[in-house]
Amino acid sequence: MRHAPGNRTTADPVAAHISPVIFNDYDSILMPSLPYYRELTAVEKDLFVRRLNSLMDTRQFHFIGMEASRGPTVLVSAVTIQISFGLKKFMLPYFRDIFIMPDAYHLKGAGELYIGHVSPKGIYISWRHFQEGFAIPNDGVTVAYHELAHAIHHENFIEETGIDWDFREDFARLPHIFGPVLSASIKEHKSYLRGYAFTNFFEFWAVSVEAFFEDPQGMKDNLPKLHKILSEVLNQDPLRSPKVLSTSDEKP
Ligand SMILES: [Zn+2]
Repeated sequence: MRHAPGNRTTADPVAAHISPVIFNDYDSILMPSLPYYRELTAVEKDLFVRRLNSLMDTRQFHFIGMEASRGPTVLVSAVTIQISFGLKKFMLPYFRDIFIMPDAYHLKGAGELYIGHVSPKGIYISWRHFQEGFAIPNDGVTVAYHELAHAIHHENFIEETGIDWDFREDFARLPHIFGPVLSASIKEHKSYLRGYAFTNFFEFWAVSVEAFFEDPQGMKDNLPKLHKILSEVLNQDPLRSPKVLSTSDEKP
């Protein structure tokens, strides 16, 4: 549900115009690598790049064990813009620091390997797995979507530095569908969502967001109620064009 105009959420600031040179620079990186961006209308692409340009000014990238390069900085930031594209508070200001590693990594004191995680220190992503997430479609694993889903939840409910009140209000409906989806997966011994979704409610959220963006038609066919709730929570439907559902209360 979207609030009426005049509600307490003010949109994050973004430049009204961007030079064609800057637009083309981002566009040349996004077009070959980000399927979501390719599907946007020209108007949406313009908004996407303007938001991306604003976001990148606020980010500090740390390359650990690999050489710094521009591609990963643009693409990780672009996935942030993708996940928050329907929201007015799209900047996730708490997550200033982004750590990029070449491959899976160990965390101190933990036995297993990680391909990404979110902590109060920032967002961590294995670049190899970031790329594989987009190269291998429909396997339910896209680490960038997964970690950004955790980050957007963390931003709105824990750090509360960039709250989108519409997001918070709609998110409150998600726990009600977690139970039925979990019960069905136990009864039928299978689920459209990969098994990791049932670790706890927060992994259910992150795995659902992965599937929502990676295979929206599959999610709509198999879990239509979850697809509908996620569309409302994120105020966008990847199956539609334009993707953002409600812009009635957005200032131009
Ligand atoms: Zn997770």
